[in-house]
Amino acid sequence: MPTSRPPRTPTSPEQSQLLTAPPEPCFDASMLMTFFREEHEIFRRSVKSFLEKEVAPHVDEWERAELFPREIFKRCGELGFLGAHYPDDVGGAGGDKGDFWYSAAWAEALVHGRCAGLAMGLMVQSDMATPIIGELGTRQQKEEFLIPALRGEKIAALGVSEPNCGSDVASIRTTARRVGDEYVINGAKCWITNGTRADFITLAVRTGAEGSGYGGISLVLFPTDTKGFKVNRKIKKIGNHASDTAELSFEDCRIPVRNLLGEENAGFYYIMMNFQGERLVAALGAVAGAQQCLDETIKYTSERSAFGRPILKFQVWRHTFAELATQIEAARWLTYRAVDLFNRKEEAVKEITMAKLFAGELACKVADRCLQAHGGFGYSDEFPISRYYRDIRLITIGGGTSEIMKEIISKRQGWG
Ligand SMILES: Cc1cc2nc3c(=O)[nH]c(=O)nc-3n(C[C@H](O)[C@H](O)[C@H](O)COP(=O)(O)OP(=O)(O)OC[C@H]3O[C@@H](n4cnc5c(N)ncnc54)[C@H](O)[C@@H]3O)c2cc1C
Repeated sequence: MPTSRPPRTPTSPEQSQLLTAPPEPCFDASMLMTFFREEHEIFRRSVKSFLEKEVAPHVDEWERAELFPREIFKRCGELGFLGAHYPDDVGGAGGDKGDFWYSAAWAEALVHGRCAGLAMGLMVQSDMATPIIGELGTRQQKEEFLIPALRGEKIAALGVSEPNCGSDVASIRTTARRVGDEYVINGAKCWITNGTRADFITLAVRTGAEGSGYGGISLVLFPTDTKGFKVNRKIKKIGNHASDTAELSFEDCRIPVRNLLGEENAGFYYIMMNFQGERLVAALGAVAGAQQCLDETIKYTSERSAFGRPILKFQVWRHTFAELATQIEAARWLTYRAVDLFNRKEEAVKEITMAKLFAGELACKVADRCLQAHGGFGYSDEFPISRYYRDIRLITIGGGTSEIMKEIISKRQGWG
């Protein structure tokens, strides 16, 4: 493992100087080797190279258009990015059981696209709408939905939230009534990422009686060319502009019963299971984004001067950055610990929930402090910080709010 660190105890004047002199980067990439293997690093580099060449130059245009091109899904599929962490039998690189460290490398590398909306659309495709199909799907469901999604040929969305409920998943009202070999679906979904152009939705529906709560929910695979399905509107947002977010309606939509995922009425449990990977990639992306934001702010403040010296030389800013760098490091290792447990299929709900809570809240704080350090330019559209500030605000809401994370943690601890 390469390392340029000096020994702890100086044995010569030169070494003594080394101990105090060179400012180390905030984050030592060699530490990653503890978890990431060479193949993950090759994968990470190819994602980065693709994003820098084929995405970053076009992001301003896609943000203005409020949509990134559909071809990006296809391209990421061709390059093997969308399915990397999946097992080999569905086209992934993760061996027999899958390898979540590919998802970790993917979520972290996506910051190089400099477009959180694009990262979100792609992560819904690879890590939010599809993992549960990999877990529970029949071979037919995998061939019809999962494999084309991982190739980028079909766009996937995850439909859980509704106009009247998001945090309280057990209250969803969209119904699926069984009639012969079909489900007849009626209701509405809200906030659905990729929703204006998805080819199918991994959809949460109520198959139990009214009032059946969490015990009456199922997951079905819903093709969007089904009669009675409608995109009601594309929702305007304060950030993540390149990603489409839709409100959808379902009126007497008939789908075959074979599109049921797993067992009927076990959907609440499956949604909670699926949330674990979703929250992990959210935490990983939050840490990587916060690191990028801090690094760029340190560069900016080392070049921008006031009162005859670089902003970075004011103790108040050096201390602020030292504190943020420490917290980012803590968030990273909390998140890696959760990934490690999750990847080994051990109990990880508490750790994943803590990682999403801590990394999400921290990323918002980093964005706020870094914007402040940019002064007026932070409030303009001339530096990446302003877009980052708008986009990151979603992190403490989407995939479960920070308040819900605290509820889960306190329940896991046995406090309520
Ligand atoms: C841009 C964007 C993209 C999204 N993409 C998707 C998607 O692809 N698929 C999907 O299904 N959903 C998606 N969502 C929805 C997202 O998951 C929900 O917004 C989120 O779960 C919160 O639900 P809500 O908006 O209904 O808020 P509410 O549940 O109405 O909560 C409002 C406030 O009350 C708080 N609150 C609620 N319950 C409690 C409690 N018990 N204790 C304390 N405080 C509480 C919340 O934390 C929040 O602060 C997306 C949302 C956005 C904004």
